Amino acid sequence: APAAVLPLPVLGRDVTVPLVTGGEAVYAALDYAASAPALQRVWDDVAAYAPYYGSVHRGAGYLSRLSTELLEDSRRTVAEFLGCRPGDQVVFTRSTTDSLNLLARTLPAGCEVFVFETEHHAALLPWRGARVTYLEAPRTPAAAVEALERALVDREPYGPALVCVTGASNVTGELWPVRELAAAAHAHGARIVLDAAQLAPHHPVDVAELDVDWVAFSGHKLYAPFGAGVLAGRADWLREAEPYLAGGGASRSVARRADGGVEALWHTTEARHEAGSPNVIGAYAVASACRALREAGFDALVARERELVERVREGLARVPGVRVLSLFGDDAPRVGVLSFTVEGWSGAHLAAALSAEYGIGVRDGLFCAHPLVRALLGGSEREPAECGAPRAGSGERAAGAVRVSFGAGTPDEHVDRFLRAVR
Ligand code: PMP
Repeated sequence: APAAVLPLPVLGRDVTVPLVTGGEAVYAALDYAASAPALQRVWDDVAAYAPYYGSVHRGAGYLSRLSTELLEDSRRTVAEFLGCRPGDQVVFTRSTTDSLNLLARTLPAGCEVFVFETEHHAALLPWRGARVTYLEAPRTPAAAVEALERALVDREPYGPALVCVTGASNVTGELWPVRELAAAAHAHGARIVLDAAQLAPHHPVDVAELDVDWVAFSGHKLYAPFGAGVLAGRADWLREAEPYLAGGGASRSVARRADGGVEALWHTTEARHEAGSPNVIGAYAVASACRALREAGFDALVARERELVERVREGLARVPGVRVLSLFGDDAPRVGVLSFTVEGWSGAHLAAALSAEYGIGVRDGLFCAHPLVRALLGGSEREPAECGAPRAGSGERAAGAVRVSFGAGTPDEHVDRFLRAVR
């Protein structure tokens, strides 16, 4: 399906930026994996609701009730989008990072965690305090399943365990065998959480069908604006854990104790982990994006991205010195995310040139997945590129790679201009 017929128009396609060569260009946003542009539909929905929002959960007024209803309705829309099971909870968070940190705070005592070293830092790092087994980078999807099974067989039996795995890599875009990993986890008595930050914007995610216990994703990668994410799945660990944030909204009742202290009774619903005034506009925007994607169907989006991935792969293959990074092989199925290096160029230099001379926005560095990129680059990195830090002034940064990523609203012209520029 060509871009023109994809029923998912995005904002910001006609922003003109100045070029160092003196001219100007329409900005080519090829960094969807970091943050995708918002869908026009999401923006329209938010704008239509904005004049009517009021305090949530606490007000008896009409607008308060409307906002509360919209928040709860957004939860139902997200649950439906993710194919949640009856009894699953949908907690609104700030992002995938927030969602995984929240889940990390719910681990039962003695819980072991299993995670591949290839994960995004948001999935590698939140498990402080737990016994974590970091599994080496597998070179095929089947090897990933085997490695997980071996690790789970070796663990002490009967204790709680959690596997955390990405659905699609934020570096290579490659799809991971989620269903098989979930089956392996469950066969050995472990739970599994899916980091769907990169999968959900490109592919249908069905919690029940994949048989994962939890799923986490970020609104700003799913064509909604910044500020809201989701953790959805099994209620038991969430219900039994201490609240992620303590405060109003999470507590059902608070009373003074005989010894002079205070004691709180916590909610057992999603509210337990959503203390404070909820980001109802953010939640509504996420739900709007889910609705738009569901109504459009993923078939056209998947077909369009496959076409663009092929175009980029073929185009890059014709440029001498280009190496596309992959764990599972060049032909492995992937979402619209590719990273590559060009001999003789640092990623930072190449990305700067693409921006300054061609008006193309890509990402460079180690993409908050330092162990993976180091493994893919063969340990050639001199120093870690900082993750999310401001760009260094004139100092040379680590070599790193360049990542190009796209999705709904990406026209052929952006991809063609990118390929021309790299050539
Ligand atoms: N997991 C993956 C696979 C990601 O790509 C990202 C974002 N790059 C995250 C987690 C973290 O998402 P956020 O920054 O929205 O918390």
